Amino acid sequence: MNAKELEVAGIEFTVTALDAGFFPITAAEIPEYMADPIGWYARQYGVSRERVEVWQRFVDSDYRCAATTRRGTRCTLPAEEYYRLSVCDFDPAWDGFCRRHQPKVGQVGADQAA
Ligand SMILES: [Zn+2]
Repeated sequence: MNAKELEVAGIEFTVTALDAGFFPITAAEIPEYMADPIGWYARQYGVSRERVEVWQRFVDSDYRCAATTRRGTRCTLPAEEYYRLSVCDFDPAWDGFCRRHQPKVGQVGADQAA
């Protein structure tokens, strides 16, 4: 049985979202998702592929702070309020840092401040 036949039988498909929830997907869309999941997610969220990749690295790190310590190792603290972040509003210039390493206004380049 292929996905189309299952769909005709009333079975619905979903793809797990990258932050919370699910996206419904039709049988016809499944090959597109399988061929390029990152591109598919980017279109669903209306964000760039880079944003999806940055977000996935953040999730894969277990939501750890992105800063490098003075010793040159990755900070091991959890990012501030990571549970409130989502793919769409995640800005790697500002988000994904612990309280100590969170950038202050003025430390981030003007082009990213908008
Ligand atoms: Zn940190």
